[in-house]
Amino acid sequence: MPRYCPTCNRSEAEVKFYGNFCEICAGEKLSEDLKSSVELERCKECGRIRVKGRFIGENRSNLEEGIQQQFKKNHVHVVSYDAKEALARISIDGPEGKLTIDKTIKLKYIKKLCDRCYKIKCEYYEALFQLRGDKSRIEKVIRHAKALFERNNEFISKMESKDGGIDLYLSNKKLASEFVAYYKLYPKMSYTLAGVKFGKKQYKNIYAIHL
Ligand SMILES: [Zn+2]
Ligand SMILES: [Zn+2]
Repeated sequence: MPRYCPTCNRSEAEVKFYGNFCEICAGEKLSEDLKSSVELERCKECGRIRVKGRFIGENRSNLEEGIQQQFKKNHVHVVSYDAKEALARISIDGPEGKLTIDKTIKLKYIKKLCDRCYKIKCEYYEALFQLRGDKSRIEKVIRHAKALFERNNEFISKMESKDGGIDLYLSNKKLASEFVAYYKLYPKMSYTLAGVKFGKKQYKNIYAIHL
C-alpha cells in the first residue's frame, strides 16, 4: 500500500516523501517560515550594495552573500535576479533532514550614500600634487594617477588650473606617496594640518612636482 500525501494526495510512487508529507508540500510548509523579502542598503550614487559592512558591486554572487547574511540557518544560492526579486535555491534543515526549495525573495533597497561617494561629494582629499612644467608630461601624470587611484577604489577629488600648471587633489596620501616614488617624480614635500582625529594630528601631503 503506497502512502499518500495528506495535503495533495500524491502517492509515494509519484514523488519522494519527507516525513508524512510529499516533498513538495513539506517544502512549501517549511518555506512559509522563511522570510520572503530582504532589505539591502544600496548607494544611490554608485549602486553598490552593503554586505558585511562594506559596499561592493551588485552582481549575483555579492547579492547572494547579502541575502545569505539574512538567512543564518539555511544555505542560499541565488539562481537569478532582477531589479525587484531574486530566485533563490534554499537548503532547509527541517526535522526530517535536509530539503531544498526554490523561493522568490523580494528585494527591498534602502537608499544610502557609501563612504566613497560621500567623500567624492565633499571633495575629500589627503594629498595634493602641484604639477608644473611641461604640459604633455603633466597630462601623462594625471592619466596614470587617475588609473592607479581608480584601480584601488580611490579617486581624484578635484583638478584645478593654477600658476600655469595643474593642482590635482587626491583621496589617499599613501597611494599618492607610492605613485611619486614609482614614477621617480622627486617632489618637494610640505604638509598642512587638516585637523585632529582620535587625538592625533592629521596632515595633508603637498607635493610640488616640476616636470
Ligand atoms: Zn503533497
Ligand atoms: Zn557609492
